[in-house]
Amino acid sequence: MLFRTLILKTSELGFVRRLVTQSFIFRPLVRRFVAGETLEEAIAAAEVLAKDGFGVSLDLLGENVATLEEARAGRDAYIEVIDGIEKSRFTENINISIKLTALGLDQSLEEAETNFRLLLTKAAEHDIFVRADMEASDYTEQTIAMVERVYKDHSNTGTVLQSMMRRSPDDVQRLIKLGCRVRVVKGAYLEDETVAYKEKAQVDAAYIEMSKTLLKNGSYPAIATHDEDIVKPLLNFIKEEKIEPARYEWQMLYGIRPDLQQKLLEDGHNVRVYVPYGSQWYPYFSRRLAERPANMLFIMKALLKGKGSKKALKGH
Ligand SMILES: Cc1cc2nc3c(=O)[nH]c(=O)nc-3n(C[C@H](O)[C@H](O)[C@H](O)COP(=O)(O)OP(=O)(O)OC[C@H]3O[C@@H](n4cnc5c(N)ncnc54)[C@H](O)[C@@H]3O)c2cc1C
Repeated sequence: MLFRTLILKTSELGFVRRLVTQSFIFRPLVRRFVAGETLEEAIAAAEVLAKDGFGVSLDLLGENVATLEEARAGRDAYIEVIDGIEKSRFTENINISIKLTALGLDQSLEEAETNFRLLLTKAAEHDIFVRADMEASDYTEQTIAMVERVYKDHSNTGTVLQSMMRRSPDDVQRLIKLGCRVRVVKGAYLEDETVAYKEKAQVDAAYIEMSKTLLKNGSYPAIATHDEDIVKPLLNFIKEEKIEPARYEWQMLYGIRPDLQQKLLEDGHNVRVYVPYGSQWYPYFSRRLAERPANMLFIMKALLKGKGSKKALKGH
């Protein structure tokens, strides 16, 4: 947890951001987690996965836009994503994930909801599901409340609950009552201990409990983790409770544990890969780095070199 905090705080420093986004030495690592910068690249990656039998959720990276114009542009860019999916050869198992702050949640709740509803209407015309990702805890209540409001008119949406959040067991019940789909994750943001668990053991225990509840009583939950210590007990639970594979899916991130993704698929489970793309990849990339010390070794070496040489910063 300390490592994660350090990395997430460091990534907010201006010179670190400039170094990582402007220098080409990081590109191979970025490309491990991000499918590309354009919709065409994302669709190409999605088609490879879909051809192999994976579901895909496309995420056009972007969050916390600064103006309502940017929010409208974000909405329109997502409408292009829907058109892109529609033209793809593997349409039926590709859906969308979106952050509500990309639709203007910081600027205007009403406008963000209007943008979200428009997107959902357009997606429904093509039978496409759109999930509202869960962002930092400042947005938890707004996200859940918005999904509750729009779900009544747009059943092609659902959201995400983070097991690190102390409030999540109550939110599980709230969303089971609503009937929408829920993705369970551990949580990728820095949170205060007043609202979130800090110990991995607590986050993991809460994850397993929430998943079991949703597997039994939820609507097609998505179990989103790469952690085998979570996957194994949940596989046992699924077996013991005789829960059919059609009632849930596993989800993992593009570029992380492809071996585990393949294994679950081969064992007859539905597996969806979350495929992020776009030019605004830095915040997403920082969160992935913070999750694994090994990813950081590469960055630290380059960072130290870059600090010592201004040329490296200006060079690209
Ligand atoms: C499909 C999907 C959607 C998500 N959506 C959200 C969301 O809406 N909101 C949110 O807050 N979080 C989201 N997350 C991120 C999530 O909260 C965790 O931060 C992330 O999944 C890492 O947790 P883990 O469950 O894999 O367990 P961890 O304990 O972090 O990792 C377990 C193992 O997985 C592998 N692994 C995990 N991360 C990495 C990495 N970055 N690089 C290399 N190996 C790695 C390692 O082998 C590690 O030992 C999402 C995750 C997934 C899979």
